[in-house]
Amino acid sequence: MQHYFGKIQGNEAMLGPEEAHHLLNVRRANLGEAIEVGDGESVFECKVVSLNPLRIAVIKEIEERRELPCEVTLAFSWLKGDHNELIVLKGTELGIKHFAPFISERTVARPEGKEKNKIDRLRKIAEEGTKQCRRAEVPSVEEFVSYGQILAKKADHKVLAYEGMAGDSRSLLKALSSVRPGESILFVVGPEGGFSEKEAKMALEAGFSFVSLGGRILRAETAAIYGASVISASVEE
Ligand code: SAH
Repeated sequence: MQHYFGKIQGNEAMLGPEEAHHLLNVRRANLGEAIEVGDGESVFECKVVSLNPLRIAVIKEIEERRELPCEVTLAFSWLKGDHNELIVLKGTELGIKHFAPFISERTVARPEGKEKNKIDRLRKIAEEGTKQCRRAEVPSVEEFVSYGQILAKKADHKVLAYEGMAGDSRSLLKALSSVRPGESILFVVGPEGGFSEKEAKMALEAGFSFVSLGGRILRAETAAIYGASVISASVEE
């Protein structure tokens, strides 16, 4: 079943112009076709009951849970090339709720002047990923902020992947053992060049725990996807 975003009003699903265009002109939906509509909270099984004007009837709510029981923010230092897109696409599939790109001391690729385009592109990717994995809700992609602003964010569990901890026994999985459903997790990954010592110190002062992602140094995008996978596996009920 194809997945769309819309609003539920009574027994009908209302799609915005872009989604309606996709359904009618790109997918060429037939009368009577079954589709899924996500309204940001739940997913509904629906049926196209009229094409012109477009009318979609809600059949029933799909009960399966598609969101993680915890609110997870993945903060990552902006990377070179299309690695940022990879992080958002894979992170969306893995249940991340908020993506927070930031600039730190050793960030190599700086989006200067192109911030809006870069964020818009990531938002589009989050939307595509959401449809593909049939989540009810598109994760948010926040505007660029500084490393300091990431550290100041509030969360029940604040963890930072620090390469200085590679091989250390404080693994991400262990750090997450106390997480309870409904809590929030902020997971931070550094740039290609890693975090400076000063930045590591700042994180400790801001109440973060350092975690190791194993004995090998991962590339930043692998670290982000590894983190999202481990978080998802440890909080999923
Ligand atoms: N250039 C650095 C490595 C940076 S890896 C060096 O050679 O030391 C990029 C980011 O991925 C790091 O900032 C960290 O957040 C994360 N990372 C990669 N491997 C890791 C590991 N084994 N443990 C914890 N964090 C890791």
